[in-house]
Amino acid sequence: MTRLFTRAVLALGSNLGDRTETLSAAVAELVDRPEVRLRDVSPVVQTEAVGGPADQPDFLNMVLEIETLLGPYELLEHCHAVEAAHHRTRAVRWGPRTLDVDIITYGEVLSSDDRLTLPHPRAAERAFVLYPWSLMDPQATLGGVSVVELAARAADMPSVGHFEGIEPCGGKAGREHTVQPAP
Ligand code: AMP
Repeated sequence: MTRLFTRAVLALGSNLGDRTETLSAAVAELVDRPEVRLRDVSPVVQTEAVGGPADQPDFLNMVLEIETLLGPYELLEHCHAVEAAHHRTRAVRWGPRTLDVDIITYGEVLSSDDRLTLPHPRAAERAFVLYPWSLMDPQATLGGVSVVELAARAADMPSVGHFEGIEPCGGKAGREHTVQPAP
């Protein structure tokens, strides 16, 4: 039986170590198998950490659109393998992490399983997912609502700024570009 490619949106975040290097390596590793094809990549944004311990470094976040022959749980396993390759630690909930990869959508699949909830249960409120997604694909919708509109409504929108790609030496690159929420 021929399996068809399914489109999926993945969200990547990193706030430990060489964040730009981690994100670019992770993109390459996620698509480095014949069952996964890269369709689109968002710009990278810089985001203040939400929740978890105080004073953690800012996150770099981005989203990807892929098409894949992997089933949803196979894709989750693949994402976990890429996270593990970057020595992600899960010691502190919402604490600093080298790499976080979430599946935001997998085709039109809806799932309420704790192991894989689809669409991702918190994506509709997270500007650090919605904003780069809206830059990559302004026509995209989540739960029938435009991601542009969801990003503008998200409470963390003021903490998300463009990242120009050069790792700062102790500074906060891109913060001057911080995007204001819609009125
Ligand atoms: P986190 O530590 O926030 O990355 O959460 C990871 C846990 O969330 C894993 O145990 C996953 O099985 C589970 N999970 C549930 N839904 C999703 C999803 N859509 N994408 C990634 N992980 C998910």
